[in-house]
Amino acid sequence: MATEKAQEDINGNMVTINKREEGCFMCGKNSPLERHHIFGAANRKFSEQDGLVVYLCRSCHNEPPDGVHFNKEKMELLHKWGQDTWELRKMIEDHVTRDEARKAFMKRYGRNYL
Ligand SMILES: [Zn+2]
Ligand SMILES: [Zn+2]
Repeated sequence: MATEKAQEDINGNMVTINKREEGCFMCGKNSPLERHHIFGAANRKFSEQDGLVVYLCRSCHNEPPDGVHFNKEKMELLHKWGQDTWELRKMIEDHVTRDEARKAFMKRYGRNYL
């Protein structure tokens, strides 16, 4: 039997990394949460399809100084984390090596964040 596919949502996208009810991905707070695509701009659609989306509270998302859209280090951390997650999932689902997963990531997202 083929390996089980990771869970998909009703639109055929991979399910997001954290669930809304689990609170902010960065700080755990339950205050109103916003959806953030780990990879934006041209890669936003891939981020959506691959489930590389997290729920963040307002201050971790889009407010200075700590919001990811204002804080380079936090943005970088999420990029690294997103790539690592993507590659690990690829290795398990497609039975490929880390190197092969890395190449596949770079082909899809156009760069290496790790
Ligand atoms: Zn937060
Ligand atoms: Zn965002």
